[in-house]
Amino acid sequence: MNPLELRKQFPILDQEVNGHPLVYLDNAASSQKPRRVIDAIVRYYEHDHANVHRGVHTLASRATDAYEGAREKVARFLNAASEREIVFTRGTTSALNIVARSYARAVLREGDEIVLTPMEHHANLIPWQQAAKATGAVLRYIPMQPDGRILLEDVEATLTDRTKIVSVTHVSNVLGVVNPVKEIAALAHRRGAVMVVDGAQSAPHMKVDVRDIDCDFYAFSGHKMCGPTGIGVLYGKLDLLDRMEPVEYGGEMIEHVDYYDATWKESPWRFEGGTPIIAGAVGLAAAIDFLTEVGMDEIDRHSAALARYAYDRLSAIEGVTLYGPRERTGLVTFNLDGIHPHDVATVLDTEGIAIRAGHHCCQPLMRKLGVTATARASFYLYNTEEDVERLAAALIKAKEFFGHAIG
Ligand code: PLP
Repeated sequence: MNPLELRKQFPILDQEVNGHPLVYLDNAASSQKPRRVIDAIVRYYEHDHANVHRGVHTLASRATDAYEGAREKVARFLNAASEREIVFTRGTTSALNIVARSYARAVLREGDEIVLTPMEHHANLIPWQQAAKATGAVLRYIPMQPDGRILLEDVEATLTDRTKIVSVTHVSNVLGVVNPVKEIAALAHRRGAVMVVDGAQSAPHMKVDVRDIDCDFYAFSGHKMCGPTGIGVLYGKLDLLDRMEPVEYGGEMIEHVDYYDATWKESPWRFEGGTPIIAGAVGLAAAIDFLTEVGMDEIDRHSAALARYAYDRLSAIEGVTLYGPRERTGLVTFNLDGIHPHDVATVLDTEGIAIRAGHHCCQPLMRKLGVTATARASFYLYNTEEDVERLAAALIKAKEFFGHAIG
């Protein structure tokens, strides 16, 4: 895998920002798109677009083939047992909301437990808070080590016979830590609970095999893995999906309707009410082809190596505090002593370097880390050690700039 060659396939990366060649290090928020994904969407709109499923004309059947073909591609990408286990959603957030609204509210009783970790993104936290409020269930948290790791003995100690749902992020969007979701799933199943995995930060970077993990649900977003915005996936085991109520009612998702009642299609179509995200699915399929050709194992090695390289490089700069263990993937989260992360990000932008600053949709985790915000540099397959060097040099510059300003 050659990141510099891959970078050439991303038109947006070939530009200067504030007089410097762009270094894009905000991939955990959203990745950029290769030419072939952009082309696939344009080609679809120029040649094949129509509404899916209902039509008998040629364009309708081409659009339907493209949409359902994308579903088969996602099923293979995740090693799902069937394409009927793949629900297209707007992203990770809406996928997790489907589970929390439909599955959780049907099974949870007062006093039942939903188990999370302290590092969950708001998308894998607030839906569960709301499900708990609606049902009388309670939230419990697996303790986290000071460096951000989750130990299996702590998982075991947190689960009880009242645990009905365990929902954990596969990779933390703040700490970069990879959680042992396969082992956690086994412990959850031993208690009779279902295992939900937030895959927003793992699907872009590593081979995901939902049958090997043996999770019951897995959610991810297309836009973080070279696909377009507005498309994501909920994987669910078919026997669970088929027992779940839809969350949106209307066209496309019904089997039979009369004036007073209606019945639903089988999964996944019962969860896709209304005109679905057809062009998004086409773009996601092109992104999966691209990533598969590059090789998910290669991407995994690259993302982990670059994150550790950045961790070591930034650790060597006086005044930098890093969050999370060295063993990580995809990103580094840090602060510069005495300088607000928004100011750090602003100075870096003047150097053409795009990073993110804020709470990263993890406010409770920020409080646990004793900060209100951090800076975050996140990497993808087109980033290099050279990009990390530019980041490090710009941080030293920021330190000097604010050092003088403060001093
Ligand atoms: N979960 C994690 C770990 C994330 O990093 C994100 C996005 O940053 C999400 C969930 C939500 O993804 P989306 O905004 O695409 O729904």
